[in-house]
Amino acid sequence: MRIDLHTHSSVSDGTDSPSELVAAAAAAGLDVVALCDHDTFDGLDEAVAAGPGVGVRVLRGLEMSAQHQWDSVHVLGYGCRADDTALAAELARVREGRNGRVPAMLANLARHGMPVPVDVLQRQVGASPSVGRPHIADAMVELGYVADRREAFDTWLADDRPIFVGRYAAPLGRALDLIRGAGGVAVIAHPWGRGSRDQLPPALLAELAAAGRLDGLEVDHQDHDDATRVELRALADRLGLLATGSSDYHGLGKADHGLGCNTTAPEVLAAISERVGERGGALA
Ligand code: AMP
Ligand code: FE
Ligand code: FE
Ligand code: ZN
Repeated sequence: MRIDLHTHSSVSDGTDSPSELVAAAAAAGLDVVALCDHDTFDGLDEAVAAGPGVGVRVLRGLEMSAQHQWDSVHVLGYGCRADDTALAAELARVREGRNGRVPAMLANLARHGMPVPVDVLQRQVGASPSVGRPHIADAMVELGYVADRREAFDTWLADDRPIFVGRYAAPLGRALDLIRGAGGVAVIAHPWGRGSRDQLPPALLAELAAAGRLDGLEVDHQDHDDATRVELRALADRLGLLATGSSDYHGLGKADHGLGCNTTAPEVLAAISERVGERGGALA
């Protein structure tokens, strides 16, 4: 059984619509796929409805923007009730922060000789309620300023590059508690990817695990090298945390990590499913 527990659609910063994503999951030979768009549940009904037609089990996921001591942390939530008012309010606040920083980033781009007209950006954002830097990157590609998303991030948009502007994200503990409070299972996405290792030391993860606030760690992810995966898996085992794996598929924009390039063990999905059931959430 092939299970990919973290993918994106055009409802956030992926390029496939939710139903296209599910069709692509079937074509990639997946049995189970979780859609985890950034800070929104809006693609889930379409994705879940597309599952039976192509023989894929679609799980309801989320990737929530959190922060710990001002460093960005992404938290995956599985099986959250979308109508939970506390979680919905926090997600709305995060999306407001996403919208709110766009003018400052566009001003930075203009200052660096790369004006991006609002209508060009809007075309990239489309109907997504969750605007992100990949949309800005795609607008920069469209206007010929950079060759691809990677160059846009490496040169201009990454957290330490000149165009970047910060935004609101939920304090990590609050994000975990809101996800679990909405019936979900909370897993930290790519915990030690892109230099974030120092921000999430074992002692912090141990504290969250001991307090019962954290369910798991995403171990098999393209931002973790082999040695990091070995270490993270051992840490998850020691702390009694679930270890997941995923492609973090975004469609065309990041074609280097295709659906199913990393997967999650069936026992881990069974544990997630059982916890969602206990908490009154809805996984599919
Ligand atoms: P934002 O949601 O605006 O904070 O942008 C973060 C998103 O940009 C992530 O979810 C990734 O999809 C993408 N991203 C972040 N860093 C990079 C990078 N270095 N190269 C390519 N994409 C990235
Ligand atoms: Fe993303
Ligand atoms: Fe992420
Ligand atoms: Zn992701």
